[in-house]
Amino acid sequence: MIVDQNTKIYGVVGYPLGHSLSPTMHNSAFEASDLNAVYLAFETKDLAGGMQGVRGLGVSGMSVTIPYKSAVIPYLDQVDDLARMIGAVNTIVNDAGQLIGYNTDAAGALKALEDKAQLSGKACILVGAGGAARAIGYILKQKAVTLKVANRSRERGEELADFLNCQYIALDDLEAVTADIVIQATSVGMSPDKDACVIPEHILKQGMLVMDVIYNPIETKLLKMAKDRGCLTISGLSMFIQQGAEQFRLWTGMDPPFSTMAQAVKQLLMKSDQT
Ligand code: NAP
Repeated sequence: MIVDQNTKIYGVVGYPLGHSLSPTMHNSAFEASDLNAVYLAFETKDLAGGMQGVRGLGVSGMSVTIPYKSAVIPYLDQVDDLARMIGAVNTIVNDAGQLIGYNTDAAGALKALEDKAQLSGKACILVGAGGAARAIGYILKQKAVTLKVANRSRERGEELADFLNCQYIALDDLEAVTADIVIQATSVGMSPDKDACVIPEHILKQGMLVMDVIYNPIETKLLKMAKDRGCLTISGLSMFIQQGAEQFRLWTGMDPPFSTMAQAVKQLLMKSDQT
């Protein structure tokens, strides 16, 4: 790869970034598409300074991650309708100096789900009430999915249920729930706490569609249990790669090299699992 005066700069802003998979995923995509572009990790506690840098230095595009997906909105010139409704931006396009915000988490989750099943008319229990749950709940609502929201903190759970115009249930009441689709959208089960799971095993029934937003490990405890009980499963990795593919499309206007991106991320996750 040659870096010169024409190289376009992209990156991810967040704090902490930990072992972000985005640089590996997007650099593999740029290389496979023969683009003179590079993607970097910008870990900062100074969002205002970071956004001034994006503007002042003409950074071509950014991913935005925890904890800045909502906080970044005031620094943008435009926010597309979906991101505005969800209240979170995970992608910025620098269009000739205008910073435009998008949310590709919602589209990524939808693509991952629609690749496995037809959604309209299905009953879904959405576990979690953070940014990921909000994006997924909002897009599923547009697809005529009947939702229930379960969350640890009642206040946040009820707030999301109000937003989605659906019922809130406490995590303890999951025991009695039946659904066609179960979506795990909390941070529980993420490495190194791989044995944690907020969803009771016995509610998982043959033929159910079960998605976990966690992508490290690729197969979470929930997905292992769901497979064993005859459910159809979707890893958070599918959602992650789909949201990244949508970012690539927004930044470049080109079709993303999907299998290259998936391969690069899987290799990185397998390597980090061995260390
Ligand atoms: P967030 O806004 O911080 O929300 C965290 C959620 O997890 C809340 O519902 C929180 O419940 C719940 N939670 C945390 N610890 C818990 C515990 N010990 N027991 C029960 N519930 C607990 O985070 P987020 O942005 O929604 O992200 C959630 C996860 O999704 C993260 O792991 C993130 O990496 C992942 N994610 C994946 C993708 C992807 O592409 N696959 C995209 C976005 C996010 P309370 O409200 O009670 O605190």
